[in-house]
This record gives sequence, structure tokens and C-alpha cells, in this order.
Amino acid sequence: MCASSSLSKVLISNATLISSPATPLLHKQWLLVEGDTIHSFGAMEDIPSIADAQHIDGTGKIVMPGLINAHNHCAMSLFRGLADDLALNEWLNEHIFPAEAKNVHPEMVYWCSKLAAAEMILSGTTTVADGYFHENQTARALLESGMRAVPAQGIIDFPAPGVPDPTQNIEAAETFLQEWQGRDQRITPALFAHSPYTCSPETLQRAKALAQKYHTTFFIHAAESKYEQQMLLNPQGTSPVRHLAALDLLNSETVLIHCVWLDDTDRDLISKSQTGVVICPNSHSKLASGIAEVTEMENVGIRTGLGTDGCASNNSLDMFQEMDLLAKSQKLRTLDATAMPASHALAAATTGNAKILGLEKLGEIATGYKADLILLDINQPHLQPSYSQDFLIYNATGSDVETVIINGEIVLKERNFISLDVEECMAEVRALARTLGAL
Ligand SMILES: [Zn+2]
Repeated sequence: MCASSSLSKVLISNATLISSPATPLLHKQWLLVEGDTIHSFGAMEDIPSIADAQHIDGTGKIVMPGLINAHNHCAMSLFRGLADDLALNEWLNEHIFPAEAKNVHPEMVYWCSKLAAAEMILSGTTTVADGYFHENQTARALLESGMRAVPAQGIIDFPAPGVPDPTQNIEAAETFLQEWQGRDQRITPALFAHSPYTCSPETLQRAKALAQKYHTTFFIHAAESKYEQQMLLNPQGTSPVRHLAALDLLNSETVLIHCVWLDDTDRDLISKSQTGVVICPNSHSKLASGIAEVTEMENVGIRTGLGTDGCASNNSLDMFQEMDLLAKSQKLRTLDATAMPASHALAAATTGNAKILGLEKLGEIATGYKADLILLDINQPHLQPSYSQDFLIYNATGSDVETVIINGEIVLKERNFISLDVEECMAEVRALARTLGAL
């Protein structure tokens, strides 16, 4: 076989492939990327001869789908380690909201988002769903970094960075959608309402109507903590999920972030409406929010995915750590070692997140799928031997990622960035952190 076309090509040889979460490892394989898609792959005896392809020697490497982080606030990398070891309401109201009010501006969002992009690419994340303010700067940073992204403009009923008058929050969100929809195939703009307790029913309904007008995703934090549940239970006699359902906000283009505190009625409402749910196990652990009942959700057909949340509450953007804790926390919560197999955690971070974010042909290695791929160096003591893909969930970390391809472009090669200047990103964020030290 000899492919001929003017599209750019990357040929990986002699690698071990993980094509999809539950498929056994495929050893001694080649894989051809043509343009932005996976053209073909197969056993080394049938490797094609392609003179104009960039060649990557996959000896001692795993090639797998790039990981998808379904919830982040990229710009919050500035606040990493600023206020650790606090309960959610105190952390948010006494530390994060005041720090944001003083320090969030377009340049900050741009550089901190770019630092987050560097951290994500270095740890194997190729797609991120983000929600913040000045989101056009996050979209710009992620586009320039080479990532695929679902950036979502934040909506809240307080004066916010870039939206000092909250009565203009929906208009600001529409301006963002108009600016970014259809601009680049790697960027899918969306909306992010902060929560049921920081947005009025009217704001929530207007935000969802706007998302539907533009056929895009409506994200919202919901049922994160016991405190939030009690806040809604006392004045309104309802749960966060029942509140959102009563406002007719739940459907297949709504994604609820967290969902730690659900009862059977909540789960039924989420399941019947085909609403997506994203779990952030490290953030839930650090803020002591609780352990989301993922197995119970999936038993009633709820679509679940995985995210890191922002750096201020995690504090890492490494999705390998997130997959590990997702599987282990379900085992620990249920005292059942079979509660969540490793392959299931891998599915959450790949195929599951792609479906929740409405991104087609993503999250698997298959012909015609988007060429978002990561290569890990497994020729290391902690990654030997490799009987199945389980070792990646329980042993690998983001620092084992060596090369990253997004949309057919090599953005990281042997841990050297092609797409951004990581030293510049770190220097800019350190300078921003020095001003924050005067708080
Ligand atoms: Zn969040």
C-alpha cells in the first residue's frame, strides 16, 4: 500500500496500541495519520511505505487516544496552592471569589490558560472543556497551544471579571458565542452557568435558551456539597437537580459538574433527560465534598465523564491521577473491588467524555477518527510488565507522556513543545503571582 495525497502524514511504527478502553493491547503495530484524521493502522508485517510521512519510532511506546478533561477552569492555575485545606464554602467565598475580583483580567486569563495548556499537553490531555470569565482569552490561549477545546463563557449573578454589570451576563455570553462559533474546528464554544446558588432561575433559563439557540452545551456546577444541598433545601424545599429540572434545564446538551449529592429522584431526572454528568474525584476529595455515587448513576443509565476541575481545588491537571482515583474511590466507597474496573475509568476520560461534550469521532483509535493521540514511554521500571491497559490507570502518570499529536499536528515531541513557549508561560504566571502576593 502506498498512500498518496498532499495532506501531511505521520507514520508511527512498532508501537503498542490501545484502540479503545476495553480492547486488549495490540502489539507491534503501525499507525498512519493523514491530515487531521487517523487514516489506518495494522500489524508491522503490513506497514505501508510512505516517503513523505514524518516518522515516529514507537518502539517501547504505548499509543493511545488523547485524554479529554471534561471540566476545568484553566485560568485558575494562578490560584494553585493559594488556599488549601479549606471547606468549599469558606474556600470559595473567603479566598477564591475575593482573589478573582482583584486579579482576573484578560492578560491574566490568557497566560494562566496557556500555562494550564502546557501542563495538560505534557500530561496527555488533548481536549479540555473549560468554564471561566474573559473566556475569549482562554479560547485564544488553547487555540494557539494546539489543543482541542470546549471553552464556555461564565455566567453568574454577581459583578464578574469582564462583566461588571450582571444584568449584561447573557449578552456577554452571546458575544462570546458569536465570536468563536465556526471559527476553528478545534474550538467549540459553549456556556457555563456557575451554579444553582449563584444564578437566579431567570438567569439560568435565559442562559439555557441561549445555549439552545446556538446548539451548544450548557454546563453548570450542581450538587457538589452537602452545604449546597442544604442551601437549596431550606428556602426552596428542593434539591439542586430538582430545582434545575423544574426550570426545564435538563437535556442531552446540559452537563452537570460534580453531582456528589444525589438521591434516587435526582438520578431518575438526570437519567430520563439524558443529561451528562462530570465527576472530579480529586477536587471532591480535597474539598471533602464526598464521593460521587458513580456506579449507582451508571446503573440507571446516566452518562458519566471525568474532569480535574481548576488548579485551585485539585491542584493538578493530570488526568492519569484522576482516572486512578475515580476507580479507587468507587471501590473504597462500596467496599467492592469490582465496583469500577480500570478500563471503565479509561472510558470515562476518553469515549465517555467525547460523548458528553458532543464531540464526534474522538476518544478512540479508529479509521476516520480525529488524530488526537498520545505516546507514553513504557520502557520504565514502574510500567513493566504490561499485561493489559490497566497498568496505565494504576501506574502511569502524566510525566510518562512523551509525544502528543492533536488534530494531526505534533504539538509535543519527546517532551519538547512545538506549539508553545513553556518557559515564557511560566515566567508570565510567576510575574502575575508576585502581584497576587500583595493581597
Ligand atoms: Zn468547577
